[in-house]
Amino acid sequence: MNDLVALHAPIADALAAAVRRVVDSGWYILGPEVDDFEAAFAAYCGVRHAVGVGNGTDAIELALAAVGAGRGSRVALAANAGGYGTTAVLALGAEPVYVDVDEDTATLDPALLDRKTFDAVLVTHLYGRLADMAALRTVADAHGAKLVEDCAQAHGAARDGRVAGAWGDAAAFSFYPTKNLGALGDAGAVVTADAGVAQRVRRLRQYGWDRKYHQVAGPARNSRLDELQAAVLGAKLPHLDGWNARRVAVAARYAATIEHPKLTLPDVAAPSHVGHLYVLRTTDRDALSAHLRAHGVPHDVHYPVPDHRQPVHGGRFAGLGLPVTERLCAEVLSLPCHPALAPAEVDRIAAALNSWAA
Ligand SMILES: *Cc1c(COP(=O)(O)O)cnc(C)c1O
Repeated sequence: MNDLVALHAPIADALAAAVRRVVDSGWYILGPEVDDFEAAFAAYCGVRHAVGVGNGTDAIELALAAVGAGRGSRVALAANAGGYGTTAVLALGAEPVYVDVDEDTATLDPALLDRKTFDAVLVTHLYGRLADMAALRTVADAHGAKLVEDCAQAHGAARDGRVAGAWGDAAAFSFYPTKNLGALGDAGAVVTADAGVAQRVRRLRQYGWDRKYHQVAGPARNSRLDELQAAVLGAKLPHLDGWNARRVAVAARYAATIEHPKLTLPDVAAPSHVGHLYVLRTTDRDALSAHLRAHGVPHDVHYPVPDHRQPVHGGRFAGLGLPVTERLCAEVLSLPCHPALAPAEVDRIAAALNSWAA
């Protein structure tokens, strides 16, 4: 599904130099590399503050906590986004309020959100597509709720010149290796225009300290961005827009070459989509999967089990129906879509799909 070796090969010297610089500096936690990357990433997102943390799930949890969510808060979110948001909400002791998604965009439906009761909204820009942030902001404001973005699949997605991460009261990023911007291990960040939110995340990521050995905030944890990962991310950030363009070009080539009556293709148009995943739909997914396996085409399902049907909840959401979410989880299938994918390989995959005798 990905080829990170091919992605990194052309910048291997820059990555090695970044690692070497950190090794030689003798400074491995919260130092100049993290400062530099936080400044560069905040500028990229068009916001004042970025705070590096250990991973994307911690970023969601700390972003929610920093805007005031905690034990007993009701956090509205979609149930088709892989369970990361749910993990963060449950860790906070907050209550997930699942909302169905829009059929075409697979992101939170603002009209359905408006019918719920909630204290905060977590919106995931799923598969690389910026959600309808203007409409979601209107609904959140009408409910007096804070709005937090999960940008783990949408680094650089933009509408009207405004990038993912610059719309919410706070936004969470993951730099897991396969994301559009990925580290060589776990990493994440919270970005925000709000100095108070940024300060709370800075405290919560490191024992609740305002300064060494003074705990002023909690419940806190240790979730820091390593100097090593920050240096790697700083070396990769200048390539992000070019990589995103290549992802969108792969998607455009799929759209131009796949033709099958039983497949529904996604609309992956830049700049509000950055092609994190190319997710098509079919009502006959098991048969398609078997066909692709027979033709040696890698594929995956993002995601097969909706959050409200996960065993972790017991029977808590047994009475909740989310028809669009449930249909999507039963029908979606992801094809390889990454910057190192050659046009000839895209064509081979498209030909394999077109030959499916469904
Ligand atoms: C990857 C991902 C996360 C979690 O990131 P980690 O760094 O693995 O914790 C959160 N949300 C979405 C939508 C993701 O794709």
